Amino acid sequence: MSSEKQRIVVFGSIVQDLVSYTDRFPRPGESVRGNVFKSGSGGKGANQAVAAARLGANVALIGMVGEDMFGDTNIKDLTQNGVDTSCVGKTNKTHTATATITVNKEAENSIVVTLGANLELSPEVADANSSTISNSKMVMCQGEIDEKGNRRAFEIARKHGVTTFLNPAPGDAKMDKTILELVDVICTNENEAEFITGIPQNNVDDAKKAARAMVEMGPQHAIITLGAKGVLLASKGKDDIEHMSVDKVEAIDTTGAGDCFCGTLAAHLVAGHSMTSSIRSAANIAALSVTRHGTQSSYWKLDEIREKYP
Ligand code: ADP
Repeated sequence: MSSEKQRIVVFGSIVQDLVSYTDRFPRPGESVRGNVFKSGSGGKGANQAVAAARLGANVALIGMVGEDMFGDTNIKDLTQNGVDTSCVGKTNKTHTATATITVNKEAENSIVVTLGANLELSPEVADANSSTISNSKMVMCQGEIDEKGNRRAFEIARKHGVTTFLNPAPGDAKMDKTILELVDVICTNENEAEFITGIPQNNVDDAKKAARAMVEMGPQHAIITLGAKGVLLASKGKDDIEHMSVDKVEAIDTTGAGDCFCGTLAAHLVAGHSMTSSIRSAANIAALSVTRHGTQSSYWKLDEIREKYP
């Protein structure tokens, strides 16, 4: 899938995941016993970069870590997964970001993210890396860094005809929605769709309304992932909203599934596949990821997928 011209550049977060698997979530003031603990490299930017790179895409990450142990291990893991980390900076002002994640027996998760070094990913960092952005095919941003940094990365991309992809996760009601005017492809889950559009999300019809509303805010394509219920696609100039299904799997941990979907979708799009076929592939590859524990560690590699679907 890879070539220089097809490079994806992710301008985004790097986070150390600290994951406890428990029978149930603790109530406020309560302490519950965990069954298993796992620590791993994560962050929405890094996860999406790894998901794309594991499929053979050419991926560079522009990110920021602290000068600490978590920073070093995150960079090492990214590199081992084939992500170009030459644009990952180190700061001594703060720590590498952390996410304290709890996963219950129903495979639901609850997450506290402390953004640390990710908040240093400023418009100036985007400017300093403008040649990497302008020489790529697609730039991907998420909602885990300073939104002014995202805006500058998209402005640089737009100036050079680079496709812009926004995954505004985790949802933030205070986000400046005018950034959508700079976005070609927006991909959200139902919560994020509600934050962006203000349309309460209770069923697939509500999601269809939100997808349509997002397209009217700027992007060519608005995609809403609905977990096991499939994926919606609304596109400019098309009245129909496509609802694509996803393979049925036994979900054991859905953490990072949305990131797997976004990275996989990007890898297929830069390789020249159509939006519809890229979404179908991304949905089924993200479904495979929920059959394994963890975030980056749950993403399937190209050879594993080829072995499963010869
Ligand atoms: P997020 O992780 O952002 O909340 P979703 O839950 O919508 O996003 O999941 C993203 C994608 O992961 C879905 O579109 C689907 O492809 C896959 N996925 C998530 N949960 C399941 C599940 N229970 N069964 C099958 N696929 C799933």
